[in-house]
Amino acid sequence: MRTTAVLSRDPAAAFSVEPVEIDEPRAGEILVRIAAAGICHTDLATRRAGAADRPILLGHEGAGVVAAVGPQVVGVRPGDHVVLTFRHCGACANCLAGRPAYCRESVALNQFGRRGHDAPRVAHAEGPVLDGFFGQSSFAGYALTTADNTIVVDPAIDLAVAAPFGCGFQTGAGAVLNVLRPEPGAWVAVYGAGAVGMAAVLAARTLDGVRVLVVETSAARRELALELGADAAVDPADGPTVAAVRELTGGGATHALDTTGIPSVLADALAALATGATVVAVGLGRGTPPIDVSEIVLHGKTIRGCLEGDSVPAEFIPRLLDLHAAGRFPAERLIGRYRHTEIDTALADQRAGRVVKPVLTW
Ligand SMILES: [Zn+2]
Ligand SMILES: [Zn+2]
Repeated sequence: MRTTAVLSRDPAAAFSVEPVEIDEPRAGEILVRIAAAGICHTDLATRRAGAADRPILLGHEGAGVVAAVGPQVVGVRPGDHVVLTFRHCGACANCLAGRPAYCRESVALNQFGRRGHDAPRVAHAEGPVLDGFFGQSSFAGYALTTADNTIVVDPAIDLAVAAPFGCGFQTGAGAVLNVLRPEPGAWVAVYGAGAVGMAAVLAARTLDGVRVLVVETSAARRELALELGADAAVDPADGPTVAAVRELTGGGATHALDTTGIPSVLADALAALATGATVVAVGLGRGTPPIDVSEIVLHGKTIRGCLEGDSVPAEFIPRLLDLHAAGRFPAERLIGRYRHTEIDTALADQRAGRVVKPVLTW
């Protein structure tokens, strides 16, 4: 199948839009015509760190329509509308315990690779492309996926809105709905109002009696968070956030989510918690947080991490999309659409804070 892809040829260089050839689906594979693919922080971090073997094909928030299925594919048919997510083996102890994000085969299944056949899944003019990123490499007009990371969704949903549910939106929403599980009377503090933080705000707003605040440096994002239903927004430029959050929440946040990956922010989020409360970290930053252990011991606090919102995607993504369809999770307010040929504009807009979640379309 001939199509165009957004390739990375060099960690430092701009993306390159090029024609590629996508192979037909072999045993266990699904060919998806990609309608849209969100750009996630992990794509950009992987491009910078990335494999030495180039070019690489990124993209792990794809959504589209199934074009064909290979032999031995169960549960997915041509014509199905699908959201693509991370892969998991389905058979290890963590998968069987309902924690597919921590699958013991996760690294092998989700990193770049090449198919163990004679024919590459993706090739460009000069040879094979390193693909298989999150089992999709969806920055292309078609992607080859597998049933374990291909979630069939209601065809009524706008696929550009649905795409980021495969990673960013389920990460933020899952941290709130699956991990923190705030009850009426709770105050949730969300640090960083990017795509993950905003999804956490939207998720908190679906719970009765739960209040949510954001701590965010960008004025535009604080304003958007308030429009989307956040009860308060803290600007770190106004002074120490620990005091501000403690005051707003009447003594400390009962739940917190750090999406920033900035070590000092996690330490501040911990310090601003109420007694017995938990902060969840989802960002992977550089450096060591200056954590005061007495904060944890003397006040019975917890720091824990979570990946992909601790979700079971086949259940959680349709559940979130149902909330969206009911008007209770207005994810369309978070996305900006860009033709895939305009990826440079999309990245510039994201850096400048003009868009929360850029989504490429084909
Ligand atoms: Zn597994
Ligand atoms: Zn991601």
